[in-house]
Amino acid sequence: MFTENQIQQDPRDATPAPVSAQPTSGFAAIALHAALHRALADAGYTTPTEVQARAITPALAGRDLRVSSSTGSGKTASFVLPALQGVLDVRASGVRRDRGVVYGPRVLVLTPTRELAIQVSKATETYGRHVQGLRVATVVGGVPYGAQLKAMRGPLDVLIATPGRLIDHVKSGKLVLDNVSMLVLDEADRMLDMGFIEDIRFIAECTPKTRQTMMYSATFAGTVGRLAAELLNPAAQTIAVTSHTDTHEHIEQRLHWADDSRHKQALLDHLLTTREVDQALVFTSTQRDADWLADRLADMGHAVASLHGGLPQGRRNRVLQGLRSRQLRVLVATDVAARGIDVPTISHVINFGLPMKAEDYVHRIGRTGRAGRQGLAVTLAEADDAGMIRRIQQFTTQNIPVATITGLEPKKAAPRTTGGARSDGGFGGGKPFDRKPRFGAPSGARRPGGAFKPKRAGSTFAR
Ligand code: AMP
Repeated sequence: MFTENQIQQDPRDATPAPVSAQPTSGFAAIALHAALHRALADAGYTTPTEVQARAITPALAGRDLRVSSSTGSGKTASFVLPALQGVLDVRASGVRRDRGVVYGPRVLVLTPTRELAIQVSKATETYGRHVQGLRVATVVGGVPYGAQLKAMRGPLDVLIATPGRLIDHVKSGKLVLDNVSMLVLDEADRMLDMGFIEDIRFIAECTPKTRQTMMYSATFAGTVGRLAAELLNPAAQTIAVTSHTDTHEHIEQRLHWADDSRHKQALLDHLLTTREVDQALVFTSTQRDADWLADRLADMGHAVASLHGGLPQGRRNRVLQGLRSRQLRVLVATDVAARGIDVPTISHVINFGLPMKAEDYVHRIGRTGRAGRQGLAVTLAEADDAGMIRRIQQFTTQNIPVATITGLEPKKAAPRTTGGARSDGGFGGGKPFDRKPRFGAPSGARRPGGAFKPKRAGSTFAR
């Protein structure tokens, strides 16, 4: 995948940027170029999220940052805005670049997956839309080299890349990183999980020692903390906005026990035909299950597609586009493929197959409840899954409230899963549904067909 964007500047921004006067609150209080304030206003963002409020100002001051912040917190803008401000500052200083020389990017963002890279790239386009001639490139694996090589010949402002493909270009001498003044590692813990540690070390070595480094990770425990100590300035600022123990207050969690796989499918069918589902992201444990389940749901008439790492990049892009444009109502995905999906209309995350790691549960449910909306995360589990449910509850230090659907109650007794978290099954004591469920009660007779008028998946997605 490669994208390169020449973004037109509005004539009103032709002169380098007077930063805003001295307002006292909101984004206006942050000393950003007028072009960036305009883009924020266009996006309708007036108030910085917590991570933005805490990270942007020290980043603008050139500090290295170690940020733990959960997915959906607005972390992308917290590094993209200072990165773009840096690009604008260099322009304002009058430094010019000659054409035809290999310069490499000023800002380098590393992400674990193609999807996240594309997401960051889109955010950079959004926030940089009024920055004259901004050059953003996205370099990820699984796509031909040709266009990527062409883009790297000219001057580049921001390069967003996955480590593997980036290294290929650096080692072949086609890309130099001598001009990198800001290095961002997004979802660093995930990159290490995926085995990129040596690649990250190598890439960091290729950038100037004087660079500013910003590292984002769900956790800084263990290896990722040691890598942070290697890459960040000792005076780096630590910003811990959230952690895996977050209560995910925009996300309501529920656990349904299923007697067997047939029962689990019946629960899923019920959930997908309820009125409250705007768009649903259904997780499976394997690529094969994702394809199988998407086929089954398509046969039932759902507008559905599967998304996993075994699919060609072009198809993955089309599927994501289908989700954003609402052609798709249901996406069946595996963990890696769903990483970085940012579609605010995903109202439900349904765990049909459990993740391999407790931490992935947190990433999965973070795909809903985004951009200030409420989300519902439903986990369907069989007795064999009890161990993983226990580990998830220990990891998040919360019990997932158990729920039942009238007519689809399990016949077997629920396995014991408490141990790491409170055993009352709730967030504040009492029975799980003492609280008013935000998505309507999970009980009620099954409505075959339900409120959702199924429509066939379009040919692009039909399996
Ligand atoms: P992120 O955590 O960076 O993936 O962002 C999560 C979502 O919040 C994205 O849809 C952003 O476009 C949105 N967002 C980011 N900053 C703000 C803000 N200050 N106000 C409202 N929404 C925001």
